[in-house]
Amino acid sequence: MKADVIIIGGGASGLIAAITAKKNGKDVIILERKERVLKKVLVTGNGRCNMTNVRAGISNYFAMGKNIDLIENVFEKFTVTDTIDFFENEIGLICNEETRGRVYPLSGQAASVVDGLRFCAEKLGITMLTDFYVRKIEKKDFKFKVYSEDKKVVEGSRVILATGGQTYTELGSNGSGYELAKSFGHSITKLVPTIVQLKTKDYQVKGLRGIKLDTKVTAYGDGSKICTYDGELLFTEYGVSGNVIFNISFVYPIHKKVELEIDFMPKFEYNELLEILRKRKNILGDLTMEQYFNGMINKKLGQFLSKASGIEKLSKMINTLTEKELRSMCTVLKKYRVDVIDTNGFKAAQVTAGGIPLKEINPETLESKKVKGLYFAGEILDVYGECGGFNLQWAWSSGHLAGMNV
Ligand SMILES: Cc1cc2nc3c(=O)[nH]c(=O)nc-3n(C[C@H](O)[C@H](O)[C@H](O)COP(=O)(O)OP(=O)(O)OC[C@H]3O[C@@H](n4cnc5c(N)ncnc54)[C@H](O)[C@@H]3O)c2cc1C
Repeated sequence: MKADVIIIGGGASGLIAAITAKKNGKDVIILERKERVLKKVLVTGNGRCNMTNVRAGISNYFAMGKNIDLIENVFEKFTVTDTIDFFENEIGLICNEETRGRVYPLSGQAASVVDGLRFCAEKLGITMLTDFYVRKIEKKDFKFKVYSEDKKVVEGSRVILATGGQTYTELGSNGSGYELAKSFGHSITKLVPTIVQLKTKDYQVKGLRGIKLDTKVTAYGDGSKICTYDGELLFTEYGVSGNVIFNISFVYPIHKKVELEIDFMPKFEYNELLEILRKRKNILGDLTMEQYFNGMINKKLGQFLSKASGIEKLSKMINTLTEKELRSMCTVLKKYRVDVIDTNGFKAAQVTAGGIPLKEINPETLESKKVKGLYFAGEILDVYGECGGFNLQWAWSSGHLAGMNV
């Protein structure tokens, strides 16, 4: 089988690259290792697909290597507005902006994005070969030969590697794309899971497993404040999870030391909370510390935090609390610190940080600087974004640029 352009990977970036190249008059084949294309997109945004973010800017993106500014050009060539325009006017979706600039299809179904892209590709006559697991690519006399695991061959003059990262391998992206890139002399930066649950020191969360509550969490990277998010936090046996953690976990891959400061009482300022604690001392004076947080915060968490603030014994009478102890409890409730020591791994992560270093590609075209005719798009590159539609936007913008240039 032959085509002008062979796209390896039928994910988000592969589909948009194929549609763009086909519209530019190229003959295009997509090779996808799974039985269907876009399997990962189907599960994005909890099945709703947070497809982009109207607030996306270069500051929402990171690279394990340097040179993140190289990608500015990619977003300029295919902006968030272009993306929404593409999905509304070419795919037929209605895009709906929700909180924090996050955009979803109005149907609330990721399947709408999948179907829309698939129908568009079919209508354009793009060949999509599924169950085609690419294991080897050769280049000879300006032609690429792409081999599947079971020795099928497709030939073409341009290849786009759009094989994604190495998270959620059951959905297709299993890191095999890195090996294909390496076979052409490309290097791979350190790979780190992100948008993922975080592991903390054991004693900082011991006994809290299963407790879920609304918090405000501030992430510190190497001592500097990086970002603050509100949302649900869930304590687990290994550390912390929940929406708020997914939102801030982008900090972990790019900093050596990451600490989280949890505000368990975001409704109150420090002084308001201190006043509440003083009042509780008066109301509950003849009870013990075991009862102090009753009706205010999860009981087990309250007892844990009073210990963390230095009150050793739960049998202590509440009326013996000193002003220093009240202030110390107030500080722990507003600024409980945990050290992030690891993540919950690639299996649980949404995105892979790291990949093909940006210095090895031409940022104007996304063509390899090492092999003419070889292009990259999507998560395989050393680019990752925050949680909130930024990673799919990278897939759309980079896929479009590679598709324009093949
Ligand atoms: C649970 C989950 C939820 C997410 N939610 C969001 C969200 O709401 N918003 C957001 O912006 N991002 C989200 N993401 C991240 C986003 O889905 C990815 O960043 C994006 O899909 C990357 O696009 P891609 O085209 O680079 O790779 P993928 O979409 O992963 O596609 C790569 C494709 O290549 C195929 N492939 C891999 N190797 C080979 C090979 N050797 N031969 C043939 N085919 C191969 C794979 O099967 C796959 O279909 C989420 C991710 C996960 C896992």
